[in-house]
Amino acid sequence: MNIQEIKQLLSTPKNIVITAHKNPDGDAIGSSLGLHHYLSSLGHNSTVIMPNEYPDFLKWVPGEENIIKYNCDTDAAQTKIREAEMIFTLDYNHLSRSGEMQESLSSAEAIFVMIDHHQQPDDYAQFVYSDVTMSSTCQMVYHFIQKLDDLDKITPELATCIYVGIMTDTGSFRFRSTTSVTHKVVADLIDRGANNTAIHENIYDTNTLSRLQLKGVALKNLKVLSEYNTAYISLSQAELDQHNFKKGDTEGFVNIGLSIEGVKFAAIFIENKTEGIIKISLRSKGDFSVNEFSRDHFEGGGHHNAAGGKSNLSLSETVEKFISILPSYKNLLNP
Ligand code: 5GP
Ligand code: MN
Repeated sequence: MNIQEIKQLLSTPKNIVITAHKNPDGDAIGSSLGLHHYLSSLGHNSTVIMPNEYPDFLKWVPGEENIIKYNCDTDAAQTKIREAEMIFTLDYNHLSRSGEMQESLSSAEAIFVMIDHHQQPDDYAQFVYSDVTMSSTCQMVYHFIQKLDDLDKITPELATCIYVGIMTDTGSFRFRSTTSVTHKVVADLIDRGANNTAIHENIYDTNTLSRLQLKGVALKNLKVLSEYNTAYISLSQAELDQHNFKKGDTEGFVNIGLSIEGVKFAAIFIENKTEGIIKISLRSKGDFSVNEFSRDHFEGGGHHNAAGGKSNLSLSETVEKFISILPSYKNLLNP
């Protein structure tokens, strides 16, 4: 990315829209709001638009109350997108990942800037800051501000937003993408006012009883295929309904399988009757690429060790399909 050109563009006030991927997670919300605080401090008229709803445990991140949800407030969102001079697309690598917003974004005349850490980025943006080695898009927003020589513009609110996404995308600083630089960034964010203990509590200690009981169902449904060092969980719509399922309630469940000794590959299959799909999350340890696996079999993608996808088959057919694919990966999963 030509940082001087970006600096030039940002030197006069502009209408700016910031978007992230469908079903926004901590990194999507944190990076978008962090960038929003930064651009606002430069005098821009910046608006954050998310494709759809996000979990309750993110509904306190500073600035969250002004996010426009495209699927609820479509007219307002479309007007903002049409009037935008610059559109930042954060934490996604392909416009199709913006769900229903895709059409609006494709016809926008704004200058596009992509900041993202997913594999195989598409080429819709004039400015691309893509780095698949990065822990999170939030860490990249920090480096973006750093490259623009503006770290002193990081307020406690901005620091909080960025801390949220680094923390959630690294599984609290444990995944392979967590480097010494990540820790230095996080240390600086604490120095600039991020309250790390409060952030952890706001994100992780807001369970409801029904959510914990749903986790119990997930544990009961957990299956291990030791021949392939693989574990998977399935949750039916009926099981979700019995536990007052809300968006975000199954966040992190896929990692349960990976915590079993020897397991290298974990999957969760979640039935979504409204969308008529089975939503799939995949995680791995080491060399096995769930990004490739998801691209090849489940219309998805993501990162080397964390990816997602979907299936139009029934829940049981999806699980059967998954199991039937594993033998061709035996050498990779259990050499
Ligand atoms: P999660 O399993 O937490 O939903 O997603 C894991 C990673 O895979 C995230 O980085 C997410 O952006 C990506 N991802 C999730 N679902 C999809 C999908 O359907 N398509 C693609 N390309 N990426 C996905
Ligand atoms: Mn991310």
